[in-house]
Formats: sequence, structure tokens, C-alpha cells
Amino acid sequence: MKTQNYQTLTETALSNEQLSSEDCLNILTNPDIDILSLVHAAYALRKEHWGKDVSIHILNNAQNGACPEDCAYCAQAKTSKSDINKYPAKEEDEMLAEAKRAYENGAFRYCMVYSGRGPRKKRIEKLSGIIRKIKDNYPIEVCLSPGLIDAEDAETLKAAGLDRFNHNLNTSKTYYDKICTTHTYEDRLNTLKSVQKAGIGMCSGIIVGMGESSEDIVEVALKLRELKSNSIPVNFYMPIPGNTMGQKNPLTPEYCLRVLCLFRFLNPTSELRMAAGREMHLRNMQSLGLFVANSLFMDGYLNTKGGNAPDTLAMIRDAGFTIKADRPVEAIINAIENGAKEKGPETGTSLSDPSITIKSTTDLRPTTA
Ligand code: SF4
Repeated sequence: MKTQNYQTLTETALSNEQLSSEDCLNILTNPDIDILSLVHAAYALRKEHWGKDVSIHILNNAQNGACPEDCAYCAQAKTSKSDINKYPAKEEDEMLAEAKRAYENGAFRYCMVYSGRGPRKKRIEKLSGIIRKIKDNYPIEVCLSPGLIDAEDAETLKAAGLDRFNHNLNTSKTYYDKICTTHTYEDRLNTLKSVQKAGIGMCSGIIVGMGESSEDIVEVALKLRELKSNSIPVNFYMPIPGNTMGQKNPLTPEYCLRVLCLFRFLNPTSELRMAAGREMHLRNMQSLGLFVANSLFMDGYLNTKGGNAPDTLAMIRDAGFTIKADRPVEAIINAIENGAKEKGPETGTSLSDPSITIKSTTDLRPTTA
């Protein structure tokens, strides 16, 4: 097994050269790697391009369940038996109220996620109206994750002011048919190309831990480098009870850190996010992940809870990082805690609790419940 030269990894990435496939695989598989040295090498890149800033993203699950697709990892797929709270697309007023709430909770970017294969033209028009109103009312970036779209849809969304479009590659081309049969890897790539052509920022990432090999992970990291994805969410698979994929090999916190480092070395200037599953798989090593990734989701994921917001903000502060917001982190923690006192006890899981907790209606639709 090749001995790792950590300094060379940093220097190669700083000069924007691509690591060899051998080096990439070595990062994930070499048992002799010293994880602190690896994180330190990746931190030099994080510091160079992103300083100490952390971008907080808050997801709005704008339409939940009843999807005709069969993505095996997803609780909303037609094949899933997960006990989730299904509802059709939220109305504009609800989306605007939740955008306001995300802004007040310190979010830098508000992400609207819709279940389904992709939107019809009428939905694209509606979404464009919502995007315009959010951008007119709040100083917050807007990201949309509506599924597959074409070049015309992308142009319409760009004209409405959309900042980012999320569409994850999820896994390698080689492994794609093991996780989904109702659309292809090529379909996903075509959507990303339309987004990029329209001039919308691209957000595309991976789900790690679905039974893929380390080679598959390297393939995705290299592909996202080739695509120059502006933002890369690294999700760690959460086996939500009832989904078709079920349990897979458990990930270790150390392996998750290696994956984050690999993506950082290959994509030094991309916004790199510790996305779904950070609490479950990184556990007590989450703050170490901040030295590699410069972004995270707060307030949980599509259907599952994460660490609560004050804990997440305190973790960022305690690790010596700052958040990208127009108010200090303490002011945001105080505002959230004061609001929670008025509403009653917090029901979110703590950062060290690895269990999967399905979100309730109050979590999914906080401005109407
Ligand atoms: S990932 Fe998206 S397209 Fe796939 S089943 Fe879930 S909601 Fe549907």
C-alpha cells in the first residue's frame, strides 16, 4: 500500500491539478493513513478558499411522498413502505412563511425540495413566482430540487432569479442501476447540463453507504470535478425503516472523514456540505468534518430529524468557525431558544443520538402546524 504524502495532496489540489486515481483510492482505503494528518491537509484547502465560514442550509420538504420513481434509498419512492407524512405541493404562502423562518434561523440558503420525477411546465411557472417573491423579500439564496428538467425549464428558473439547482448524481454510472431503474444516470447528467447551460449554480453530490465500492465513490468525486459543480452535498445513507434498500454496511466516522477529504482534494473550490446522515455516521467526529466541509444542513433532512438547531450552531461556534449570516451566531441561538421556550420543549434528537427519527407534521410544516 502506498505511503501517503499529505503535503503533496494539499499542494496538488492548491495548484488545481487532479490527483491520480491511485491517490484517490489510497485516501479511502489505505489503513496506514493518519486521519488527523489527512484532515489537516484538507483543511489547508478549506482555509484557502472558504476561510472559517460555514454556510447553513435549511431544507423545505415542499412536497412529500407518492413519487412514481423507485430510488431504493428514498422513503418517498413508489416502492417504499416507510411511514412518512405524505402531502401534495405546499401553497405559495406556506413556502414564503418557511423562507422567512429559515432566514431568521440563520440560513444562508433555503432549499425547496419536491418529490417526483420532475415538474410539468405549469409547476415550473408556479415555482418561478415563489422564487421571485422570496428573492424580493429576504436576503437569502434560493436552491431548488424538483427532479429532472429540460433546457427550457432551466432558462425559466434562471429568469426568476434561482441561485442554485440541486440534482445529485448519487452514485457512479457503473452502480446506478443498482439503486434506481425508473430513470438513468444519463437522465441526471442531462438535467445538470441544462442547469449549467442556463447559468444557474450547480449543486450535485453523492450518497455514500449504499453498498457501492470505494472505486464508485472516486468515480463520482472525479465526475463532479469534471462538471465543476459549485456545490457538493455528501450524504451518508440513512436506512429509513420501510425503504427498499434496507440496512447496508455501516459507515465509520473515520471513513466518512476520508470521503469528505477526497471530495475536498478533488474539488477544492466547491462548497462542500456534510449533508444527510452526518449525525448518524460522523457522530462525535462532526466538528472534525467542519475542518474539511464548509457547509451543512440544519433542522434535519427530508423526512428525518437531525441534531437540533442550537446544538448545531453551538458546535460551529465551539470548533472556532463562523456562520455566513447577517447576525452573530449567539444572537441566532438566543432567538431560537427563546422561541422554543414559548412553544414548549424541543423534540429534536441530540447530536450524539444516532437513531433515525421520522419528522412529524410540526417538523415538516412548522408554519401551519
Ligand atoms: S429520490 Fe426523488 S425521484 Fe427518487 S424516489 Fe425519492 S422523491 Fe422520487
